[in-house]
Amino acid sequence: MGMSHEELVINAEKERLEILRKYKQLLKAVEPHIKSRDDLKKIHKAYELACEKHKDMRRKSGEPYIYHPIAVAQICAQELGLGVTSVICGLLHDTVEDTDLTLDDVRELFGDDVCKIIDGLTKISGVFDQSQSIQAENFRKIILTLSDDLRVILVKLADRLHNMRTLEHMRRDKQLKIANETLYLFAPLAHRLGLYAIKTELEDLSLKYVEPEKYTEIANKLEKTKEVRERFISSFIHPIKKQLAEQGFEFEVKGRTKSIYSIYNKIVKKGVPFEEIYDIFAIRIILDSRPENEKSDCWRVYSIITDLYKPKPDRMRDWISFPRSNGYESLHITVMSPSGKWVEVQIRTARMDEISERGYAAHWKYKESGMENAVDDWIRRIREILENNENAVDLVESFKLDLDTEEIFIFTPKGELRTLKSGTTALDFAYDIHSEIGNTCIGAKVNNKLVPISYKLRSGDQVEVLTSSKQKPKEDWLKIVISTKAREKIKTALREEKRRVAMDGKEVFERKLRHLGVTFNEQDINRILHYFKVPDVQDLYYKVATGGISNFEIKQFYKDENSRSWYQYLANKIRRKTPEKKEEKTLEELIKDAKRDDSLVIGDNTVKLDYKLSSCCNPIPGDEVFGFVTVNDGIKIHKTTCPNAMQLMSNYAYRIVKARWTNRESIAFLAGLRVDGFDEVGIVNRITKIISNQLKVNMRSISFETKDGLFEGNIMVFVQDTNHLNDMIAKLREVPGVINVTRLN
Ligand code: MN
Repeated sequence: MGMSHEELVINAEKERLEILRKYKQLLKAVEPHIKSRDDLKKIHKAYELACEKHKDMRRKSGEPYIYHPIAVAQICAQELGLGVTSVICGLLHDTVEDTDLTLDDVRELFGDDVCKIIDGLTKISGVFDQSQSIQAENFRKIILTLSDDLRVILVKLADRLHNMRTLEHMRRDKQLKIANETLYLFAPLAHRLGLYAIKTELEDLSLKYVEPEKYTEIANKLEKTKEVRERFISSFIHPIKKQLAEQGFEFEVKGRTKSIYSIYNKIVKKGVPFEEIYDIFAIRIILDSRPENEKSDCWRVYSIITDLYKPKPDRMRDWISFPRSNGYESLHITVMSPSGKWVEVQIRTARMDEISERGYAAHWKYKESGMENAVDDWIRRIREILENNENAVDLVESFKLDLDTEEIFIFTPKGELRTLKSGTTALDFAYDIHSEIGNTCIGAKVNNKLVPISYKLRSGDQVEVLTSSKQKPKEDWLKIVISTKAREKIKTALREEKRRVAMDGKEVFERKLRHLGVTFNEQDINRILHYFKVPDVQDLYYKVATGGISNFEIKQFYKDENSRSWYQYLANKIRRKTPEKKEEKTLEELIKDAKRDDSLVIGDNTVKLDYKLSSCCNPIPGDEVFGFVTVNDGIKIHKTTCPNAMQLMSNYAYRIVKARWTNRESIAFLAGLRVDGFDEVGIVNRITKIISNQLKVNMRSISFETKDGLFEGNIMVFVQDTNHLNDMIAKLREVPGVINVTRLN
């Protein structure tokens, strides 16, 4: 489809006129900021230079390229309220990057300020123009530039906004990349700077490309329900208008629906149907107040509205006495409409409204009308946020601070972006990648720092999952993860593990019964299940395998079966009350190392390392133990059943070292016992006799307490190892009147 020479000439003439028209429009928008002829000259010089440099270039749409810089400058002037320097920068923003114009040329022609901003813009472009998505680390570069001159980021926002408005001409993959970046970085940035109108537009435009069908669906539904909504608004505001007019207020009322993007968020992320949210909107009352009456006027209107409609007490927000960090000021109340619907009403003055819509821009305007303190305050606050956040992650975090985000964005080591629910832990992330990576996860590196699996990820984090073939899912992982997917995977793995353990337990159980000389009777099974309060056979076998049901208890069951006196009944009741620490053991901890040779071996090799026995669980030889590398105190040995073990293992997996006892050492270890029984005459005597005479064990302390005919004894003894201790426990259990003996931690 070639064009004739005449057609081309006509076209070129049309375009020339269109460029001129756009330029005139720009001049009109920037006019209030033009203070001198020199300003006008500089703008014109920039315009002519941009036209010249871009003259042979076209946009993807086929239009002359110069349309774009003019549009960016137009946004700077009209929508951001920026002045001459920014307009010049908008016009020139793509020249250094895309044409033969150099920074030195720019400095020579327009001075240092413009040169610096163009330099910043060119650098930012370099970061965003990579084919892969922008990484948190690269974002830091933007931030460093940003803190030099806020105008860099404002012109960049204008550039992005125009690119989003004209995104339809791009290739689909480019559309997706740009739209996602906009949603992730630019919309929050606009929000942080208080540019609500731009933030909302960026979000809606992004959604249009990321989820075109959903976007269209919501847009259509909004259009269809428009009339109903407008009727409701007008009947709701009618009495308010009447009252305000009677009291002599100058005002304007706006009724606004939620943005398409925020409706989409509610529908998709929260599962709320459109019908429940389309009519949620805020009514905005904008007062024309004199500066000195602003606050009191707003409160008077508050009083009028709450006289008309009943307010919801917990939904009052006073952003006038306490403006938000981005400068937002407004009074919010939620009231009940006559039809029983809650409606949010925002009360503010025209100045506050402009600030809320146009942020920075409005501040500049009011700066000229004498409200300098407020403006300086706001700029100082923004600067503080920017300057105090040296790393990109914190900055992204602070952008998102008051966004109430339900999702976070996480980068893989290769820079791939993943969207996850807020509250996601390192373990969730591992499962999000692959269930096997989740199952073997021992920790993660977040922004190159080691963190435990329970670490809560934050938007912008770059996460590398660490795995170990020896790792297995644990019961308490269920408390760490928040995603359904991870929870299901863990449950499956645990069920599988339990089934395996139970199979071993079955053998153990049957062997124990043989030892007791009891023939296992299938008919006993229901009574056994009832007695041990377990739901099914698998649970029974599992408890036997993991020590949750001991030899002694099995023996007791058969005893109980024969004599069901109140005496035994009571005994059972008491015994049940003593805590069964053993139940927490996992299979791994149960695989007992049969052979014992030397002393305590730490790690895989036999290199002897210095260690200390921890005082929280007092491990003794024979106990299942592990080593924990402390910061100041070398390796500490804990029992695997130590109350702190779970926490240590899950939070500091990388500091855990294997340890096992080999040969018993002839040193005595301190262990505590708890003895429960009936307070019979001479029982204490019988117990101490067995300990010191029969077993030749040294007692360090002994204390007994009696209550309602029962006694509770705590004995501290010196033993050589667990065999020695278990022997003693068994002997003490034989003492008449003793109901139970357990080891204390
Ligand atoms: Mn551009």
